Amino acid sequence: MSKRILLVEDEPGLVLTLTDRLTSEGYKVESARDGDAGLERASNEAFDAIILDVMLPRRNGFDVCRDLRQLGVNTPILMLTARGQVVDKVVGLKLGADDYLTKPFEMIELLARVEALLRRAPAAQSPQTEAYQFGSVKVDFRRAEVEREGEKIELSAKEFQLLRYFIEHREATLSRDELLDEVWGYDATPTTRTVDVHVAWLRQKLEPNPRHPQFILTIHGMGYKFVG
Ligand code: CA
Repeated sequence: MSKRILLVEDEPGLVLTLTDRLTSEGYKVESARDGDAGLERASNEAFDAIILDVMLPRRNGFDVCRDLRQLGVNTPILMLTARGQVVDKVVGLKLGADDYLTKPFEMIELLARVEALLRRAPAAQSPQTEAYQFGSVKVDFRRAEVEREGEKIELSAKEFQLLRYFIEHREATLSRDELLDEVWGYDATPTTRTVDVHVAWLRQKLEPNPRHPQFILTIHGMGYKFVG
């Protein structure tokens, strides 16, 4: 399975370049564009490594790093610091970062650092999401299996990823665009209709009464919300 990397960076050009390059190296790359979003994703989802910029909107990289460690998230972190900020490097390492790289950097150097981090790291841990139960449905994330009333339910890979995203973001209203971005990503060129179709399939398989869903709710004009 490919390693998942979370890239927390606000410069769109750098996000694009790094995502392309890391993806071509076989990594699965997700990105967050500010410190709050980075903290949320890194604390709720399983990543094998985090590339964390220091200068970020909303919450800087140092704070994100410190908060993650305080929350018990031990995912290896490579911090990106600005040129010549020696102090930053020291502070970053003190706060629990595993390594740092000064901007601007050579891509080959970044790849080497990421590889080194992954070699040292245990497999991605997902403390909050190993298993989840709602109603009579049990989801085992590690085995990617779903049971309903004790019967195994077959989900496609996309259905499973969508369900996982719903559970990880329960109680949040999620737009079709966000779901497309986060669940389908760069895989293909699906439309928001794709989301509706997959939601309908999930409801068929998981809801006691798919026509009156109690877990995957439609929020009119907004998108969907998972409650359960
Ligand atoms: Ca930045």
